Amino acid sequence: MGCESLKLERLKLGLGERSYSIWIGGGILSDLSQALEEVKFPRKVAVVANPRVQALYGGALADALCACDREYHYITIADGEHYKNWSTLQTIYDALIALDFDRHCGLIALGGGVTGDISGFAAATFLRGIPYIQVPTTLLAQVDSSVGGKTAINHPRGKNLIGAFYQPRHVHIDVHTLQSLDAREFAAGMAEVIKYGVIRDRSFFDWLHNHRKDLRKRKDQALVEAVKRACQIKANIVEIDEKESALRAILNFGHTFGHAVESLSEYRVYRHGEAVAIGMVVAARISCQLGLCSADDIDTIRDLLRAFDLPVDPPDYPLDAWLDAMKHDKKVQRGVLRLVLNKGVGDCLVREIADPAPLFADALKELK
Ligand code: NAD
Repeated sequence: MGCESLKLERLKLGLGERSYSIWIGGGILSDLSQALEEVKFPRKVAVVANPRVQALYGGALADALCACDREYHYITIADGEHYKNWSTLQTIYDALIALDFDRHCGLIALGGGVTGDISGFAAATFLRGIPYIQVPTTLLAQVDSSVGGKTAINHPRGKNLIGAFYQPRHVHIDVHTLQSLDAREFAAGMAEVIKYGVIRDRSFFDWLHNHRKDLRKRKDQALVEAVKRACQIKANIVEIDEKESALRAILNFGHTFGHAVESLSEYRVYRHGEAVAIGMVVAARISCQLGLCSADDIDTIRDLLRAFDLPVDPPDYPLDAWLDAMKHDKKVQRGVLRLVLNKGVGDCLVREIADPAPLFADALKELK
């Protein structure tokens, strides 16, 4: 794992007056002070983090906040998807009220997607909206959840059922934080990175293939480039379709089947990104059946996922169970399943599938 010195990369997500910058680099937590000044972030700040991430990076963040003369307070939340719920949200509101927070105060989310989603939703709703910044520390959060303004908590009946679109003021990505991530979390994030290449950018996909060894070793230079290109693709999509009325749905490539994998295995076996990896292979297989890609394209996608030790084989459940699990997918509209399918590698489309049973039956048989 390398820590060579790197230049700070700056992207912009353009959404009129809700535009914001995304900074990416290695060892840039201290640069947060500069970003806070540039975006005129409030002087009184609450940092939301779980105990693990706070112990790892809370000190560096506190130094950055001191350096730009901010009054800051930590709000500690429990670690885990299980806690992305109403009760944790209430803990955040209670702390903000106890700290006398008003509209001229701001939130910073320091952590993975769970912390980012719940803090973003707290920021969206507290006093009808206060500014917030994302400091994502997992690969998934760096390339996906911190960018684009989707915030949410879970409901006992389903994930992310309560939420809001609410854009951050800035996203601050330090790839050095990825060094402490465990191997499975890192690989799960890589599944989402690979997804961007498959749906939107063949040259990025090929770059990932050519740099897979450096990425596996978590070399700074490769990480910054991969995160930057992934964020750029996501930012371009969000700029066109902020609220997922059309194009943004392509980001769900691999997710229809992936969500079914997660729900059938009761969220116990696979990380989200691992389930998405399997889902991408199934989607590619269906794309092939519909003449949108070749068998070689499936192998190309599968090989790159395998290079990061991601699972690619669908677990063995009866077809009816798969179809039932997919009925609850959010891309089902008026009872018709809408699938994101890859056109070769580097492009995709969304297609309504009136009768998914034979397609999935064939795909699962072929992938056995
Ligand atoms: P997570 O936030 O639970 O983080 C995974 C684990 O890694 C946690 O135990 C966390 O404490 C730990 N961790 C975080 N940073 C670390 C670091 N640098 N070193 C060591 N350990 C670290 O999970 P996640 O995969 O980051 O995010 C998943 C969540 O993101 C889900 O709730 C999902 O719904 C959401 N999500 C949201 C969007 C969106 O657009 N808002 C997109 C994709 C996923």
